[in-house]
Amino acid sequence: MKIVMLGAPGAGKGTQASMIAENFGIPHISTGDIFRANIKNGTELGKEAKAYMDKGELVPDELTVRLLLDRVAQDDCKEGYVLDGFPRTIPQAEVLEKELEKTGDKIDKAVNVDVPDENIVRRMSGRRACLKCGATYHIVHIPPKKEGICDVCGSELVLRDDDKEETVKNRLDVYHKQTSPLIDFYSKRNVLETVDGTKDSKEVFEDIKKILK
Ligand code: ADP
Ligand code: ADP
Ligand code: ZN
Repeated sequence: MKIVMLGAPGAGKGTQASMIAENFGIPHISTGDIFRANIKNGTELGKEAKAYMDKGELVPDELTVRLLLDRVAQDDCKEGYVLDGFPRTIPQAEVLEKELEKTGDKIDKAVNVDVPDENIVRRMSGRRACLKCGATYHIVHIPPKKEGICDVCGSELVLRDDDKEETVKNRLDVYHKQTSPLIDFYSKRNVLETVDGTKDSKEVFEDIKKILK
């Protein structure tokens, strides 16, 4: 099963994608996590991406698409995957669609996690991320077992640079201009499903499971 997660920054795409991945035994692929791992390791790609990410802008399509196509070509993606944070523009979605068409394949479901802008800024200030394994927490809603420490790998949790209020507002603008048209793109292909992302994360996941069955 090949799944795309849609939704504003902070809507809960990553949280839900990791639950889907575990439940369905498919890899969780987050382009944001891949960029952050590259930044942490000081790679050329990381340096290039960081300049855009810090401003809350999108990394150019060319760079992002190459990275994603390489990733989904790996062996563990044969049975499917859940994409979190890709595609983020119509051209990205078109490239992915063309690549899949080569083998008569397609995206099975696009899950749109719907959360109004008002809730987003509040949510982001409480987000804490593990830069080592990509796990995400919330200081109030989804706290780690031990404050400041990742449940999964024991690393220290951080507030991402781009989760500060000013940058979040810009990311929301970018989302509405460049990414939200994907809702229509996948709706036209009859694979769009929308869930209410303001519910508790476990309830959202129950709704998603019903859709994916
Ligand atoms: P969020 O969890 O808020 O949705 P991500 O971790 O997915 O954020 O992405 C963080 C940043 O990485 C984005 O603001 C953008 O700069 C960059 N990025 C991630 N995925 C893409 C993509 N598909 N296209 C362009 N830029 C991307
Ligand atoms: P995205 O990947 O869409 O940017 P995340 O999954 O990282 O979003 O979630 C953003 C923040 O909101 C995180 O701190 C996460 O722990 C928290 N969160 C996720 N889902 C919910 C929910 N249903 N209710 C409240 N907080 C949530
Ligand atoms: Zn971790």
